[in-house]
Amino acid sequence: MAERKPEGYLEGQPLRPESLMMSYGYKPALSEGAIKCPIFQTSTFAFQSAEDGKAFFELAYGLRRRRPGEELGLIYSRLNNPDLEVLEDRLTLWDDAEAAAVFASGMAAISTTLLTFLRPGDVVLHSEPVYGGTDYLLKQVLPRLGVRVVGFRAGSSLAEAEQQLRRQGLAEKLALIFVETPANPTNALVDIAECAALARRLEGERRVLVAVDNTFLGPLWQHPLAHGADLVLYSATKYIGGHSDVIAGVCLGSKELLEQVRVLRTILGTMAGPHTGWLLLRSLETLKLRMTAQMKSARHVAEFLADHPKVSRVHYLGQLQPDDPQYAIYQRQCLAPGGMIAFEVVGGEPEAFRLLNALRLIHLAVSLGGTESLAEHPATMTHADVDPEERAELGITPAMVRLSVGVEHPEDLIADLNQALARV
Ligand SMILES: *Cc1c(COP(=O)(O)O)cnc(C)c1O
Repeated sequence: MAERKPEGYLEGQPLRPESLMMSYGYKPALSEGAIKCPIFQTSTFAFQSAEDGKAFFELAYGLRRRRPGEELGLIYSRLNNPDLEVLEDRLTLWDDAEAAAVFASGMAAISTTLLTFLRPGDVVLHSEPVYGGTDYLLKQVLPRLGVRVVGFRAGSSLAEAEQQLRRQGLAEKLALIFVETPANPTNALVDIAECAALARRLEGERRVLVAVDNTFLGPLWQHPLAHGADLVLYSATKYIGGHSDVIAGVCLGSKELLEQVRVLRTILGTMAGPHTGWLLLRSLETLKLRMTAQMKSARHVAEFLADHPKVSRVHYLGQLQPDDPQYAIYQRQCLAPGGMIAFEVVGGEPEAFRLLNALRLIHLAVSLGGTESLAEHPATMTHADVDPEERAELGITPAMVRLSVGVEHPEDLIADLNQALARV
């Protein structure tokens, strides 16, 4: 287990993350006794002495090692800010990570992290499909910087990807494996432990890093570091923020890796602001309650959809069958099926659109993980720029609807879907 601050334990036993979301990493005495962490809406911080300022900069710029127990002093809000520091401490608890860095968006977290560890000539192996912004970064931006990018389909065998890398003479140049699991919108799983094993097989002197975008199931239902990943990434805009009112991102991993990520975050200025940090602190207090309610409701909704005559297929982790190879991965890697469901209506785009236009309680919008349920049409919305042939290969059909289940009463969600399906 990653080392925690003393308040993370009670009589020597580690407290559970949900018990620490109201207190961990915050000292009321430093803020006039305020029970809640105030918003430190300030760009810069006064040093108590010139010597302090010098010491803070020595650490911030890596000019010397930290002395035992020495903390990085506050300098300037592009480097550090109390709202972000408290938030980062709390975020480490869910994934049992040594360190975290918070960003202005999920894309800021992903791009800053990849740019930290990639160099011209490197090869990245990545699962497909990935989030649209990540897809653009991998296929349009990284190649401009001399990085070769090779994709493999989520749910397909990694052995094939390994052979392809070896055949093309790219295996020795592999620097990073990027995985999004479950895949959006199909919920196809990638085996994280298998990716870590592949990284160990192909690495030479330099470690091949495994980075997992854990936005869909984390930080509650999947813990990639425990399965051998080096880095965990989040769009905190989704479940972590959870109220569809903030854009933010997170990167978690070892202290050694996160120190490097933070340097580039400071240089690129991709950190989140103090108000975003404060909103996310508030969100974290109810994270487990929200994600548990969403997961439980999704089970009911998925069961209803699976039984409906106008639904031809449901893609939901809670309905994987034991004879499906994906089932074993789910059992090893996931703690619950989460709150995301994709399903196909009988028919095609017109039928899917009729359903979406008839929904009353469920909003028609992209994004996910918020308290309100959202439905969208991947083929023409979130995945509209995926090559049509590839889209078909990935199983993103014109009849598919993606549903993010919120915290409404499940019977009300089912009633809304039922009346909308009646119009299909
Ligand atoms: C939304 C999302 C992102 C991008 O996050 P932003 O906060 O919108 O920048 C990345 N990955 C996944 C899986 C997402 O759902």
